Amino acid sequence: MVLSVFKSGDELFNQGIDLVKRKEYAKARRNFEKTIEKGGREAALARAYVDIIDACLDRDNPGKYNKLASTLDQMKEDFEFGLTEINPPRVALECRLLAERMEAGRMPGGTPAQAEAKGNRFLDVARKYQTMIGNETIKISEIVGIPVNTGIKEALYAQTVGYENLALGAVAADPKRAAELLQNAYACRKQAGEDAQYILNTINAYSKSVKCWICGRPSTGEGVHFLAMPSDISPFMKKSDDDILKSTPADYNSVYVCRPCYSAISRRSDDIARQYHERAMQEMRAMEARLQAQISSMAMMRR
Ligand SMILES: [Zn+2]
Repeated sequence: MVLSVFKSGDELFNQGIDLVKRKEYAKARRNFEKTIEKGGREAALARAYVDIIDACLDRDNPGKYNKLASTLDQMKEDFEFGLTEINPPRVALECRLLAERMEAGRMPGGTPAQAEAKGNRFLDVARKYQTMIGNETIKISEIVGIPVNTGIKEALYAQTVGYENLALGAVAADPKRAAELLQNAYACRKQAGEDAQYILNTINAYSKSVKCWICGRPSTGEGVHFLAMPSDISPFMKKSDDDILKSTPADYNSVYVCRPCYSAISRRSDDIARQYHERAMQEMRAMEARLQAQISSMAMMRR
């Protein structure tokens, strides 16, 4: 009997399969790497296993899913990973959609144009989930251990984020339109069976119209085009039937002020505060210099 000290590629592969079943991915990965080096019968499958494990170990990295998708493109037959049956073209598609969704999530959204582009990208991903996966369950989520949904539910989530971003893009120029876009986001999130109260709160804020206490101009969109400024409304004022009085939060602890008035006051008071700060600093430096001079003269006297 010949006893081989070195394991063959196939032995290493089989051991790797057992390690996957025990979810010992890092160890299993080493076995599959060696299988590929030795060019065992299962080298192609080992390549797919390595890429799946890389996705499991770094599951927020879209690059891992794109790489896995390319590897799966080369494979013809179904195979198992742990307890999950993998149909290569189908899981490759799921990987690409997941990577696309992650990349959409990483797009900047700071300016209205960026938020609009991001929103449209999410709506595009949502359409793909809806038409390409539909009511079926997404296998790749199960494999890498992220929440498992159907294509439809994933589409509803992506649509919600899409409309929220479109609303962010629209609110600076057209708060009413932003509120309409958020109505869509609200409907999608409700349909996905999720709490959507936070969207309703924003819709209410975007739809709210008031008059500015300082200039009297009408404004729509709380938090964006007008803001509450802490103030003191006396009981006498509260009794007035002036319609501007309705431009206050229910607690009468502040007044609504349009953004131009608000920012003019804030900037002017910042300037004043800066002048005071500079004057105080100058005085402190002068005092420091005087003290330093006194200390030096006392040292001179002691010599
Ligand atoms: Zn104003």
